[in-house]
Amino acid sequence: MKKKLEMLEQIQEIDQLINSMKNTQQSLQAELGDIATALDVSRDEIAVMQSRLAQLELEKAALEENHAAELANISRSETNMKEIKTNKEFQAVGREITAARRQVTELEEQVLQKIGQIEALSGEMAAKQSSLDELIENSAQRTSEKQAEIARIQMDIDSDGARRDLLTKEMPASLVKRYATLRDQRRGQALAIARDGYCLGCNMHLPPQLYNNLFKYEELLSCPHCQRMLILKQQPPL
Ligand SMILES: [Zn+2]
Repeated sequence: MKKKLEMLEQIQEIDQLINSMKNTQQSLQAELGDIATALDVSRDEIAVMQSRLAQLELEKAALEENHAAELANISRSETNMKEIKTNKEFQAVGREITAARRQVTELEEQVLQKIGQIEALSGEMAAKQSSLDELIENSAQRTSEKQAEIARIQMDIDSDGARRDLLTKEMPASLVKRYATLRDQRRGQALAIARDGYCLGCNMHLPPQLYNNLFKYEELLSCPHCQRMLILKQQPPL
């Protein structure tokens, strides 16, 4: 029984080791997720800028089209003027031309404004793109480092798993099953150390007869309070 208990203890150590390695892997996976999210956020921001830029270009093109149309109107009016006979008509066309020129000036100002907006946004976008490029490069390195770390941990987990399999093969299946059930119920701790009459799993006092029986190693004994399997560990003599 002593040997079986020692093996169970080894299995528990391996299980705890594997568990903590899996936790490390999970936090590495979460970090990989964060890196990917940061890239997505940056890409989305650039996409928003790009569509805003396309919108500005469309607006600019529409203004330029109006501008060209007004210029055409002016030149048509100027041509017509040459054929005008009455002063009244001449004045009317003159007013049209003045209004159209005012419109042309206004449109030119609006086009300049759009160009200014386009240049500002393009500059902002170029800066964003270059910081994204940096982020991509940096992320690629961090990602591969983390993936390598996850793979390295997986090799440790696999080799510990193989070590665990060897141990469990040498033990009665019922005992392994009992251990596994207890482990799940007791947050990874199926075994508890018994020392000085106490169960260190739950810190409760063990019945003296039970504690004494532990020294005989005749059977597997469990703590009556927390049901963990007890392993006797005497305090080393002072
Ligand atoms: Zn206990």
